[in-house]
Amino acid sequence: MKNMQCPKCRSQEVLRLPGDIHPPAMLSGAKPPSSFKTIKVTRYCCANCGYTEVWVDDPKDLQDLLKKYGF
Ligand SMILES: [Zn+2]
Repeated sequence: MKNMQCPKCRSQEVLRLPGDIHPPAMLSGAKPPSSFKTIKVTRYCCANCGYTEVWVDDPKDLQDLLKKYGF
């Protein structure tokens, strides 16, 4: 979807939306562990069919996620 074409319906009307993934603990009001920081992401949303993709912007964040959630 980074090529700005929807992989589902081939529409080229793709929206690019900035966004963050926050530490899950913050949703419940608890203090998040300091090791879990906010991940910067970019969302791509097809304006034709609604298909949405989310990409992590920073490769360093991907490494952190891999350490935390990888197998
Ligand atoms: Zn689409």
